[in-house]
Amino acid sequence: MTEPLVERMREFGETVFAEMSALAVRTGAINLGQGFPDSDGPTRMLETAVDTIRAGECQYPPGPGIPELRAAVAAQRLGRYGLEYDPATEVFVTVGATEGVAASVLALAGPGDEVIVFEPYYDSYAATIALAGAERRAVTLRPVEGRFTFDPDELRAAVTSRTRLILVNSPHNPAGTVFTRSELEEIAAVCREHDLTAVTDEVYEYLTFDGTEHIPLATLDRMRERTVTVSSAGKTFSVTGWKTGWVTAPAPYIRAVQTVKQFLTFATSAPYQRAVAYALGNEIPWVEELRASLQAKRDRLITGLESAGFTTYRPQGTYFVQADIRPLGFTGGMELARALPGKAGVVAIPTQVFYDHPEAGAHFLRFAFCKKDEVIDEAVARLSRLR
Ligand SMILES: *Cc1c(COP(=O)(O)O)cnc(C)c1O
Repeated sequence: MTEPLVERMREFGETVFAEMSALAVRTGAINLGQGFPDSDGPTRMLETAVDTIRAGECQYPPGPGIPELRAAVAAQRLGRYGLEYDPATEVFVTVGATEGVAASVLALAGPGDEVIVFEPYYDSYAATIALAGAERRAVTLRPVEGRFTFDPDELRAAVTSRTRLILVNSPHNPAGTVFTRSELEEIAAVCREHDLTAVTDEVYEYLTFDGTEHIPLATLDRMRERTVTVSSAGKTFSVTGWKTGWVTAPAPYIRAVQTVKQFLTFATSAPYQRAVAYALGNEIPWVEELRASLQAKRDRLITGLESAGFTTYRPQGTYFVQADIRPLGFTGGMELARALPGKAGVVAIPTQVFYDHPEAGAHFLRFAFCKKDEVIDEAVARLSRLR
């Protein structure tokens, strides 16, 4: 049979996540590859979803999202960041941040357009840009003094007359960087100078460490008017399976995103929307505890990885640590990731799969620490055999 998959999607056929998770199952290895927590969100929020189903709220909700969730998102953006959005016209609910980003890119970029991403990038970005028929231009984040950052000249050099969008993920998966105000100023200056739209992915907005402040790009001077902000409940409330996200932006952008979203999924699951609206209003103290617990897990995993012989980069946010494999005598991250379940009974993700320039990430493995302490401890004990 000839390959049925359309040409532009062929490079996305087999994801490394599927391969590595299958390897974990086959070998009984501990899976520190995929980034999902192994405990669930706040009890009252979970019960609200159940109660909503029992109360019969099981038919199509409004396409833009239920008014309660749009109001809760608007209140969150205003209360936390001082950003004002009209819940009726400037807040829009999506099937997770994934659909929020996809609908935004599909609405705002097309064939002949270029989209700038920072590599290593979240894997859905590349596929979404390809679905839109646009082209991606990757600006590389490299370690400088212990954290991943970009060279402003490289960002400027990536802009062409065809550039339409810059996709900005901060806190950044998988590099762990939370962009500073001065890094964001560089991005904002490029957007203003070249009349570009920024699409920001802020799903880890609450999960930052050591007091690091998350600064939404939209809060910078003259950026609210050209920024489409995406976030979701999955990471904030440890419900990655709920797929409930939202977009905030000026009304013309929301109309554009809505035009696409209505034909992707039409609407987003009703019971989760009500539960997330409740949580945004009432469960931020729970999220603060989650943040503190994740910071301790980060430190636990880093201490273990360092004593096993890796060099690590301490992330300022997210679920992930980057580990340099070269001090252990390895050079190929892909090769080591495939061998790791056999050698040490642990699964990690080779960071090079998130690059257009894989040589820049060839010696990194990404480990997730959003796991129970016992799981982290057992993984670390196993990895100490690598020496
Ligand atoms: C997990 C993740 C997402 C997906 O969020 P959903 O709400 O589950 O769609 C998007 N972007 C980044 C950077 C992520 O880590």
